[in-house]
Amino acid sequence: MITFLSGGTGTPKLLQGARKVLDDPEISVIVNTGEDIRYQGGHISPDVDTVTYLFAGILNTTTWWGIAGDTFTTHGIIREYLPDAFISIGDLDRAFQIIRADLLEKGLTLTEVTREICRHLGISANIVPMSNDRWTTLVRTAAGDMHFQEYWVRHRGNIPLTAVIHDPIPCPPAAPGALDAIRRAETVIIGPSNPVTSILPILSCSGIREELQGKKVIAVSPFIGDQPVSGPAGQLMEVMGYQADSSGVMKMYEGIVDLFIQDTRDPVHVPGAARYDTLMKTPEIAGNLMRAILSHT
Ligand code: GDP
Repeated sequence: MITFLSGGTGTPKLLQGARKVLDDPEISVIVNTGEDIRYQGGHISPDVDTVTYLFAGILNTTTWWGIAGDTFTTHGIIREYLPDAFISIGDLDRAFQIIRADLLEKGLTLTEVTREICRHLGISANIVPMSNDRWTTLVRTAAGDMHFQEYWVRHRGNIPLTAVIHDPIPCPPAAPGALDAIRRAETVIIGPSNPVTSILPILSCSGIREELQGKKVIAVSPFIGDQPVSGPAGQLMEVMGYQADSSGVMKMYEGIVDLFIQDTRDPVHVPGAARYDTLMKTPEIAGNLMRAILSHT
């Protein structure tokens, strides 16, 4: 069993490669839920959705969110009445968000809901949310504290930040299924996801760091030079007091990671790091990266 810690873009690209090398039942994915949000009657779990749709073979891999070929009829109608509706949700995607909200309201845990949706979609990989409890990532700005989705989707990241905070304090316990996925893993792979908004929330759930002790952990950097491949990781790393490059990522994962992987083009020197092509422009490149990673296990 190989267990991944994942957000909703960089690691899912690596998972696409993993599926070329491993059978789905050999893969576990512990997914960040720090960006979850109740929205228009649904419960959006953006990273869980992306990973789930990927394994179901229905993910829109142009955007890395939503369902390929989805329509936006409902969103269009809602926008006429609520011009402030800032998250575009496809019709099929929305159905899963309503199902999730409904099952949560009926008393199922997020782990159980995720399992239900996976079963419905015929998924044999083990996809588990990091926690069954809410732990929301917020950013502090001059306009006040806002949900990460507000910052990134509504404001497109164009707003200065002074801090990343979480609500509630303290962080919740990890989902039992997440701890079990680490316990059963031969190797844990921290994919090239946003270290601040995707990986740190998972590592913060109580029990996760302890469970990782003694495990072989391999991490892939989401940075090439001082730029992340995509997204706001640079600004967020700086706000957290880390250097916005691979050395900052390695520092953040200090004490956890046995092997750090950087892109061959990355000018930043991280002692002991292995170098491969990590720019996963195609599933084939992702497959090659995955084979290279597994050669170290
Ligand atoms: P989010 O939940 O949508 O923010 O997605 P993730 O946290 O999973 O991934 C975002 C991170 O993925 C960003 O920091 C990117 O730099 C990184 N990323 C995206 N594509 C690639 C890629 O092909 N290679 C590498 N090394 N990193 C990538």
